[in-house]
Amino acid sequence: MFVIEYMNKKELKKLVFATNNLHKLEEAREILAGEFEIVSLAEIGCHDDIPETADTLEGNALIKARWVKEKYGYDCFADDTGLMVDALGGAPGVYSARYAGEHCTFADNVNKMLSEMEGKRDRKAHFATVVALVLNGETNTFEGRVDGYISEEAHGDGGFGYDPIFIAEETGRSFAEMAPEEKNAISHRGRAMRKLADFLKTNDF
Ligand code: IMP
Repeated sequence: MFVIEYMNKKELKKLVFATNNLHKLEEAREILAGEFEIVSLAEIGCHDDIPETADTLEGNALIKARWVKEKYGYDCFADDTGLMVDALGGAPGVYSARYAGEHCTFADNVNKMLSEMEGKRDRKAHFATVVALVLNGETNTFEGRVDGYISEEAHGDGGFGYDPIFIAEETGRSFAEMAPEEKNAISHRGRAMRKLADFLKTNDF
C-alpha cells in the first residue's frame, strides 16, 4: 500500500514565485495546487532587492522573473500591479507602491489619493496585474483587471493597500469590505493568476 501511494505521488516540479509576500504565496499555492511546488525567493536563498526600473507593469514583472532565472537558474513567475485612476491620467499606475513617497505607508497612499481626488466627479479606476512566466526557455505574460471607482472616504478594514477606497463595480463594495475569497474571485491578481494556472494546466511542462 505504501508503495502504491508512493508511486501515485506525482513528483512536482519547482517553480519560483518572485515574492516573499506570504499572502500572495498562499493565494498562488491554492490556485496552482497539484501542478507545481511554488517556492518563494527566500526559499531559494534570494534576498536581492530586485530593481523595478521599468515604466510598465509588464516590464517590471519580466525583470523580476528573468532575474531569478539568470541569477539562480530556476524557472519563475513574477507579478506587478498598479492602480490606474482615469481622472489622474492613469496615475499612480506602475508607481502605486510609492505614490506618497519613498518610505510611505499604505495609509499615506490612501490619504494622498483621497486628497488628489477631492471634488472630482469622474472617479473611475481599475487595478491591473501582469504576471510574467519564464519556463523551459519560453516567456509568457498574463493580465488581470478589475474595474471600479475611488470612494470619497475609506470603507472597511480588510485587505491592504488601496483596498478601503477601491469600490469594485461588480459588488458595489470596497475590497476592504469583502472576504478574501470574494475579493480573489474578481481581483486583478486573482484573474491574472488563474490565467497562469490555465496555461500551466493546458500545456505539458
Ligand atoms: P505589487 O506590485 O503587488 O507590489 O503592488 C504594488 C502596489 O499596488 C502595492 O504596494 C499596493 O499599494 C497596490 N496594490 C497591489 N495589489 C493591491 C490590492 O489587491 N489591493 C490594494 N492595493 C493593491
